[in-house]
Amino acid sequence: MEAFPTSYQSIFDKIDQIDPIKYGKTRNHIDGAVTYLSPYISRGVITTNQVLNHVLKKGFALKDIESFVKELCWRDYFQRVAQHKNVAFDIKNPQSPVFSKSFPKAVLEAQTGILAIDNAIHLLYQSGYMHNHLRMYLASIVCNIAQYHWSLPSKWLYYHLLDGDFASNACSWQWVAGANSSKKYYANQENINTYTKLVQSNTFLDCDYESLVNSQIPSHFIESLDLDFQTKLPESNIHSINPQWPTYVYNYYNLDPLWGADVNANRILLLEPDFFSKFPVSEKCIQFVLDLSKNIKDLQIFTGSFKELESSFKLDKIVYKEYPLNNHYKGIEVSRDWICESISGYFPSFFAYWKKINPFINT
Ligand SMILES: Cc1cc2nc3c(=O)[nH]c(=O)nc-3n(C[C@H](O)[C@H](O)[C@H](O)COP(=O)(O)OP(=O)(O)OC[C@H]3O[C@@H](n4cnc5c(N)ncnc54)[C@H](O)[C@@H]3O)c2cc1C
Repeated sequence: MEAFPTSYQSIFDKIDQIDPIKYGKTRNHIDGAVTYLSPYISRGVITTNQVLNHVLKKGFALKDIESFVKELCWRDYFQRVAQHKNVAFDIKNPQSPVFSKSFPKAVLEAQTGILAIDNAIHLLYQSGYMHNHLRMYLASIVCNIAQYHWSLPSKWLYYHLLDGDFASNACSWQWVAGANSSKKYYANQENINTYTKLVQSNTFLDCDYESLVNSQIPSHFIESLDLDFQTKLPESNIHSINPQWPTYVYNYYNLDPLWGADVNANRILLLEPDFFSKFPVSEKCIQFVLDLSKNIKDLQIFTGSFKELESSFKLDKIVYKEYPLNNHYKGIEVSRDWICESISGYFPSFFAYWKKINPFINT
């Protein structure tokens, strides 16, 4: 597993090293050529569009790198869904059956009995990252085998992930649990062994799919907990505000060092306690944000609400980037950098979105 460096140059180097062809052949394997870029995309340091343009400029034909391009588009797709639906609730169908709305203790303690998952949970606690397939296996065990509602488990995962993203996280959990898809996702032990190169047998997943879908909840998943997450925020450090300048507001979803870099502006990283009490994150995630924020020149931190920021410093020209969780901000809202800005609105399936966006990528 790679570490997550935070200097802008090291992030750019990661983009430059993408091998989109190898990616297409190996991405489902836990040692496959995935990019590890999601922490930077989720924190708004770089965008899917930037990554795509960089790769296309190297001369790859779209047909040869379609798998990679599709994944970038999945991300934009989920962002569009969250602009139009309240993804905190079951989007298409109520998840069913649901045994509990709390959290399985065996998962918290990395004692699921599936080696690949238990290792992945330990690695998540250590690194703040989990491979996409392991997230799918984990969510499938939690929601479809142990029958927990996706909501609290998704909050737990988001708390630990450096790439925690409200839209991708909620939509993906719901996709696995059948709340945002027409059927639930299952993976049996054979599938997990194939993609993780582990050889484990005689587990509750070691059966064919028909038996798996009809299985009883394994007894070690019955014990559940209600989790209480806290976020430790740093103190404000505002020391100088120029009232003649506009104020660029950065936040947990926007740490773009290139944003208006040529403009004279007050630059403030806004950390709202209310926001973090609804969407708590670990100390590791906050440290990651503080490290990334060093790429933004003269950035000052304000820990408090948007209203308090506005009134404490009598700011009259506030500029911020659109994100569905910022709806209470006031000022000049600027768009995010989409792969295709003009394809907006709600699409009920990724494939409908992909069909629409594909011709724009080809040109
Ligand atoms: C249960 C569950 C929870 C998830 N929670 C999050 C989350 O909180 N934040 C998050 O960014 N992603 C989430 N994902 C999506 C996906 O797992 C991660 O984006 C991906 O693993 C990131 O690693 P990477 O950058 O190495 O991806 P790569 O495979 O290298 O992909 C390149 C980029 O494409 C995008 N991408 C790839 N796969 C997906 C996908 N399945 N859905 C949406 N975008 C994708 C990401 O922006 C990623 O950085 C979740 C998936 C599942 C199944």
